[in-house]
Amino acid sequence: MKRFECGTLVPGCEWHTRAEDEAEVVRRAVEHMRGTHGEEVIHPKMVEHIKERILDDQQAAAANQD
Ligand SMILES: [Zn+2]
Repeated sequence: MKRFECGTLVPGCEWHTRAEDEAEVVRRAVEHMRGTHGEEVIHPKMVEHIKERILDDQQAAAANQD
């Protein structure tokens, strides 16, 4: 599983998503950026920023155990 937390990109946003593969996580994140953050045009840079912040879900779970 892959996981993306919007708060890593947009401070204060608590939205997050999980999916089996990275492409699906990116797709959902882009949809969220459009719908919630009013990003009408998604620049390639934005997609890069999203990808940089996608975690393996197990990794995310381990980070939360602190
Ligand atoms: Zn958000």
